[in-house]
Parts: sequence; structure tokens; C-alpha cells
Amino acid sequence: MIYKSLSNPKLTASFKEAATTGIAPDRGLYFPDHLPVLGKSFWSSYATMEKKELGFEVMKHFVGNDIDKDTLAEIAFSAIDFDLPVVRLDDHIGVLELFHGPTLAFKDVGARFMARCLGYFSAQYGEKTTVLVATSGDTGGAVADGFLGVSGVEVVILYPSGKVSPLQEKQLTALGQNIKAIEVLGSFDDCQEMVKTAFVDQQVRSTRKLTSANSINVARWLPQMLYYFVALQQKKSTDHPWVISVPSGNFGNLCAGFVAQKLGLDVAHFIAATNSNKTVPDFLHTGIWTDRTSVATRSNAMDVAHPSNWIRIEALHNNDLNTLRNHVSSFSFTDDQTMDAMQRIYNQYRYIADPHGAIGYLGLERYLQKNPNYFGVFLETAHPIKFTEVVTEALGFSPELPEGLQRLMHSEKKSTVIKNYDELKEVLMQKH
Ligand SMILES: *Cc1c(COP(=O)(O)O)cnc(C)c1O
Repeated sequence: MIYKSLSNPKLTASFKEAATTGIAPDRGLYFPDHLPVLGKSFWSSYATMEKKELGFEVMKHFVGNDIDKDTLAEIAFSAIDFDLPVVRLDDHIGVLELFHGPTLAFKDVGARFMARCLGYFSAQYGEKTTVLVATSGDTGGAVADGFLGVSGVEVVILYPSGKVSPLQEKQLTALGQNIKAIEVLGSFDDCQEMVKTAFVDQQVRSTRKLTSANSINVARWLPQMLYYFVALQQKKSTDHPWVISVPSGNFGNLCAGFVAQKLGLDVAHFIAATNSNKTVPDFLHTGIWTDRTSVATRSNAMDVAHPSNWIRIEALHNNDLNTLRNHVSSFSFTDDQTMDAMQRIYNQYRYIADPHGAIGYLGLERYLQKNPNYFGVFLETAHPIKFTEVVTEALGFSPELPEGLQRLMHSEKKSTVIKNYDELKEVLMQKH
């Protein structure tokens, strides 16, 4: 597979290059040159295919010969090697639980796949890579866990001091080994600024090979297709056509869903549900893209004003507004609506949703009101325990922390505290 920069199709890269650099030299996002055809034999065995085969059969088209067959099968399997159940709440609504991975967030899937790919490339070519990433919470934990112990890869994670939850902080700082936690005395935006500065700092770049680990990176973005494939295996012949509601921030998750649909997966329509950061719903409604700054909400993993992956979603729809509108409906919801939905979901179904999943539910509810002849699935992107403060406020209680995480909460925090870019640079200039 060849990848092209969306801002200049002449800039091309192999999967390996795209994964190990993150972004094209012109700062454009890499995008597959063409979409593969999965073929008759794939679809005739899809319904009963084991995860291991499924992962390989889908991902091989996107990775090509850059990773040998057996290794790729292992890598793809490890990304989805946990439960991905569609829990049916009633005859019209189900929830695809994506939180059964090690850090209890859907980002485990992409992070694990990407980590193992980089580990493989490092072993094959003897190149060392540094993954540099800023996190407002969930990304860092999944990346740290996915990359822990991967040789040849050092991970440097910046997070804003005092602004991530205690559990999230332990997920970043307690692991050690090749995971370096940098605690920034500043905001998430400050962290992101420093990461951007490092990426264009020639002195740093000549000391280390840097890549990113957010959904801009194709190795993190594309494997997210796999859970849509696993979900649709759970569709019953008696179900109405499926619509899927995706709680969205940077829109990588939804974008992966669209690729899966283009490959032939039987999804009738997507719903992009957002919190008050409503750049996309407003754009689909008015046709005008308005620049905004992000606002803080209770579903903080989706507090994104400039969703990076939207440009890929447009490319998948020929950059045509009407085509987009036919394939996706988008709605935004406030914090009050989110809290109310968490209460209603619990009262009606005895189901505990996290604030992000609750927004997915709200999007589905809104769509099904006008389009009743569908079976609706919303994605539960994180375990409610990760947002225990919000869940407790909505429901008056919160589920118990699983044993592994209780242990983590008691382990020691190790971080390097920094105030400014110069201090980050000092860390990065030490040879890996
Ligand atoms: C990252 C995240 C999202 C948003 O996913 P995108 O792919 O950025 O749209 C939603 N929910 C949770 C819990 C997340 O961590």
C-alpha cells in the first residue's frame, strides 16, 4: 500500500515510513492511495472468522510486505485480543463496549497495534524511534501500556500537571522502563505546543527519530477498523439495518468506521456525536467551517476544536458536502444533557455509561426518533470507572476499580517536572 499526503499527493510513503514518521514532510496527513477490495472468499467466511484471521485479512492490505505474514497476524490479533461485545439494551439499541483492553479505553486497540509495528521495524532495521506525545488523559495511558517493554522504542509522554485524573496519572507515571512521563507545569495546550516545537527542532531531530502516536499516525488510526468488523459479526439476521453512533473528538474512530464501511461492512449510516465542541455538526448543518477554540466539558477526551481526521473523512467522500450529509448525521450535546442521559440510561436499562458513551447514546436517540426502522449501536469508548467523578455525580455511585488498577493506584509515581520547552529539549537531547 502506498500512502499519500493529503496536502500534496506527490509526497508518498510506504506503511513503514508513514508509521515511523507520523506525518508527511509537508505536515499533511497520510492517506491510502486506494481502498482495497476484500474479495468474495473473505466475505463468504467473514461471519464466522476468528479474530486472528480477521485481523490479518483486513490489515494485510494496508501494511503490504512491510511486515511478514506471521508477524502481522500476531500484531493484528494482539490489538483486538479482548472482548468487544455488542451488549443489547433492548430490541432497538445495543452498545459496543470498546473498554475491555488493559487501560479500559478504545485507544488500546490502535496503541497496541502501532507499538508492535514500531517494535518490529526497530528489530528489523536496528533503528531506534522515540514516540513523543502530549495527552489530556486517555491517549497517554493507552500509549504507555501498549509500548511498555517494546525494545528500540522510547516513549516520552507530556501531560499537564494536576489536570489529569489520579488513575490516568498513575497509568502514565508508574510504568517506568522505556516510558518517560514528563509532567508539565502548564495546560494541555502548552504540552501540545512543546511537542510541535520539538518536531520542527532540527537539533532534536538530528539526535532522535521522532514519531507521533495520536490518530494522525496510520498505524494507530487504521487498526481501529477491526472492532467494527468484530461488531458486525454480532448482527442478527432479524435485526433492522444497523446505524452506529460514534462519540467523537479528533474523529479518528469515526474515520476508521468509514473505511470499514467502504471496504464493504454493512453499516447503513453513521452518527457523529459530539459535546459542546461542535465544529463538525455546525459544519454539516451550515456548510461553513468556523474556526473555534476548544471548551472544557465533562467528556474531556472529546474537547477538540480542530478535529485532525475530518480531512480524511472528507477525502473518503470525494470532498462533497452532500455525499457527506447522506452518510453521516451529526449532533452536539451539552454537559447537562450528558448527565441527564447517564441517569436515563441507568434508570431504563440498569446500564452505567461513561460521559462519552452517553453522548453516543444521545446521538443515536436523536437519529432514531426520525428514522425508527434501524437497529442502533453506540460506542462505549471508555469504562465508566475512568470517569468516576462524573459518574458519581450523575448516579450517586460509581463501579468498583478492577483489581489490576487498584494495584496500579498504589504504585509509585515517577515523573520529570518541567516548566518550558528548553527543559524538554534537554531531556530529548540525551541520546536514546
Ligand atoms: C479519544 C476518545 C474519544 C474520541 O475519539 P476520536 O477518535 O478522537 O474521535 C472518545 N471517547 C474517549 C473515552 C476517548 O478517550
